[in-house]
Amino acid sequence: MSPDRATTINIEESHTPPVYHRRGLVAARGRGSLLWDVDGKEYIDCMAGFGASIVGHAHPKVVKAIIDQSQLLTACHSSLYNESRAGLIDRLLKVVPTSLDRIFLSNSGAEAVECALKVARRFTGKPGVVAMMRSFHGKTFGALSVTFNAKYRTPFQPLLEKVEFVPFGRIDKVAAAIGPETGAVIVEPVQGEGGVHVAPDGYLKELRDLTKDKKVLLILDEIQTGMARTGRMFAFEHWGVVPDLLCLGKALGSGLPISATLGSEEVMASLKMGEHSTTFGGNPLSCAAASATLETILEERLWERAALLGGVLREGLEGLKDQLSVVREVRGLGLMVGVEMRFDVLNIMNRLFERGVVILNAGVNVLRFLPPAVITETQIKTVVERLGSCLAEEQSERPRNRPS
Ligand SMILES: *Cc1c(COP(=O)(O)O)cnc(C)c1O
Repeated sequence: MSPDRATTINIEESHTPPVYHRRGLVAARGRGSLLWDVDGKEYIDCMAGFGASIVGHAHPKVVKAIIDQSQLLTACHSSLYNESRAGLIDRLLKVVPTSLDRIFLSNSGAEAVECALKVARRFTGKPGVVAMMRSFHGKTFGALSVTFNAKYRTPFQPLLEKVEFVPFGRIDKVAAAIGPETGAVIVEPVQGEGGVHVAPDGYLKELRDLTKDKKVLLILDEIQTGMARTGRMFAFEHWGVVPDLLCLGKALGSGLPISATLGSEEVMASLKMGEHSTTFGGNPLSCAAASATLETILEERLWERAALLGGVLREGLEGLKDQLSVVREVRGLGLMVGVEMRFDVLNIMNRLFERGVVILNAGVNVLRFLPPAVITETQIKTVVERLGSCLAEEQSERPRNRPS
């Protein structure tokens, strides 16, 4: 028998380290863009497992792939060949630029970044990395070293040396930061955790030209932006830029742990036998889920849906901005959308939860929307309406003239 709501919360609160900001929701099941808690309360899910569920919860095709593969084989180390793994690699090759034809599979976004950093070090022989202010690349030591937020970094110093942070969008600063020791530049096409900031037009192209010129590898972290999220299969397609190394994760496996680091034969072959590996990487179950996810994205043309519905969402949010002074800015690309407020968004998030909307933040004062791409226009309108009433409430309860 599974524990009830109170017991569930109690066990998790009492026996896990207090590292997650918990929201008091005991999630029981999901379907498409909807989520239900253990008491049967329904939510529209704009969190989607932190963007993992791009095709929607319990998509029949993904469910079937997981069931079928689980009955065949789930444990299979990459020292043995496997059809499910090869099937995924084959499908991925059909959607990425032809130059990115070597794929290392691992289990989390942070691991995909670790792999990219190791490959860059090995290929160039240089330890330096230029990363962006407000960046987020994960919380293992290597990934953390290129993550900007001091709150995450400071307690764990010393991290990797020779990482330099420059303002996102300033090509002159990148040029100045690249020195004889620099092996790579790492960037998110749309910064997610850092507050949903879209790369200014031309920036990625300038980065591509500059890194090529300086013989430095360009690593694109598309862990959050990849797999149709921004209105293209990958965000770099918006700007026609092909990176040297590409990191994928989050939506890749619809919630099953899987990530990927892609590069050219020349670059990836710098890793020699045994220099990098992971026990679960490329396991048949995660690969089956990822194959089904990718097929679904292609069949349902979900990047088009993300572009269209992202437009509807942003338009609705812009409408709120026009009416309510608490909204400072609406930003985003496709269904990766942020709303910057003039104050801490925690209250708003709690009010939205009460009204049946699961939402994310990105830093202190940005609300973040990462719904499944199968969300409907009606659901989006409901979300905007509910947010509107939360904001109106919050605005009326806030003392005037109080600086935020
Ligand atoms: C989530 C995220 C990561 C880290 O992924 P994990 O699976 O949590 O390790 C890295 N980079 C970006 C851009 C992300 O959004």
